[in-house]
Amino acid sequence: MVELYIGGAWREPVDGGRREIRCPADGSFVATVAEATAADTEAAILAARQAFDAGDWPGTPARERGALLLRVADLLERDAKDVARAESLDTGKRLVESEYDIADVAACFRYYGGIAGTDAGRVVDTGRADALSRVVHEPVGVCGLITPWNYPLLQTSWKVALALAAGNTFVLKPSELTPSTAILLMRVLAEAGLPAGVANLVLGAGPRVGAPLAEHDGVDLVSFTGGLATGRTIMAAAAGTVKKVALELGGKNPNVVFADADLPTATDFALTAVFLHSGQVCSAGARLVVQDEVHDEVVDEVVRRAREIRLGGPFDVDAETGPLISAAHRDKVAAYVDTGVKEGAVLRCGGRAPDDPALNMGFYYLPTVLDECQQDMTVVHDESFGPVLTVERFTGEDDAVRIANDTAYGLAGAVWTQDAGKAQRVAGRLRHGTVWINDYHPYVPQAEWGGYGRSGIGRELGPSGLDEYRETKHIWHTIEPKPQYWFRA
Ligand code: NAD
Repeated sequence: MVELYIGGAWREPVDGGRREIRCPADGSFVATVAEATAADTEAAILAARQAFDAGDWPGTPARERGALLLRVADLLERDAKDVARAESLDTGKRLVESEYDIADVAACFRYYGGIAGTDAGRVVDTGRADALSRVVHEPVGVCGLITPWNYPLLQTSWKVALALAAGNTFVLKPSELTPSTAILLMRVLAEAGLPAGVANLVLGAGPRVGAPLAEHDGVDLVSFTGGLATGRTIMAAAAGTVKKVALELGGKNPNVVFADADLPTATDFALTAVFLHSGQVCSAGARLVVQDEVHDEVVDEVVRRAREIRLGGPFDVDAETGPLISAAHRDKVAAYVDTGVKEGAVLRCGGRAPDDPALNMGFYYLPTVLDECQQDMTVVHDESFGPVLTVERFTGEDDAVRIANDTAYGLAGAVWTQDAGKAQRVAGRLRHGTVWINDYHPYVPQAEWGGYGRSGIGRELGPSGLDEYRETKHIWHTIEPKPQYWFRA
């Protein structure tokens, strides 16, 4: 049984609550973990508060904090096999994908370990000989970090590495469905030498265990990655104490293919864009926006290959993608597909769970293509977060931009063309936080990640990602103060 990590110690939840974790690929038992209460979250907040207000971590020189993050990266690389295995068991995703994810997690800690201490602020010219002025960065305080189940440790690293680099303390609440790698991370942070109380972990359901992080007066910042509806709840809850809010809320991302693209490559990436991790990716290219004259050629090939995609569990080396996270999530995806068909979309493949009896115990759903879609269809504007590709046609450049931008979200998108000028023009006009040209999905922690519109608030990566986790203070120092006599003495 695994407990909660509060104030540097593993503890039982106050009411002894438990939750069983089962693998979505086959329902097999993974672990029994603690199920916290709001009182446990309160205790974790107090531990983080104490570590921030009275502990050494916020005042530790930034370069030393960076050195600790580099040690964390080394330890994660040492333990990569075990951590990847744990991630695959919780999520059902292929082991090879979890191995890539854990490499990305280590890269994130390494990047922020490297840049911590490289920005000491700046000196400002006061225009006076008798006064100095400095702008410095300081940690925000106690951070409440709430993460989803699709990339559990990667999403966590995008918060924890930055929060620690900036000198904050935190309470982490991972998805109740995928807690295992967050537990392993706490052990690694302790082994790396992080002082007690700086990192705290509570496990359990969002409304009970996560909600206090948004509401509590002792939390200075809440950073959330998850669905739009939950994001709205958290933003509203955070308003009571006017805490800083960072939100990453998904997307409905257009993958725009012009007729003059390298079509074999664009078609190949159209499959990866949407079917990787069975579409449970915030930046998934779930909307194929394709130029009329190549529509049939591109879509026929996508459908042919989608039908061939082999589903399977984490350790099936022939599998190309895995299950959905839960039965409830599969039902939600299926309902979006049914609604799409009712609203006039043409189902070209998929649209149901697979027949293979070997997959019966998992939450699998066949790769699905819905052709001849219109933007007003529910399945086009809502995020299904499953292996569902909608296809929309366009005629020319302006039409492509109009359709691609016709979404309340704005996380990511791609444009495929061999005309470099057009590629840059269209990329410049897309209202999305990341735009790939002739590619899909690559990212590096050095570049910013964050959404326009309802995809969120703030940046998660890159040097400016750190600004979400630090306050910027201006310190003015008059060297020889003298009376001013604005008013007669
Ligand atoms: P979710 O919103 O249901 O849950 C996310 C987290 O919030 C979980 O830890 C959950 O327990 C917690 N939570 C739920 N209700 C809460 C409440 N009232 N108060 C506090 N915490 C609460 O999302 P999910 O289903 O776990 O994840 C899928 C969603 O996440 C998708 O919509 C996806 O687009 C989004 N996502 C976005 C990004 C991004 O970078 N923008 C990345 C990954 C996932």
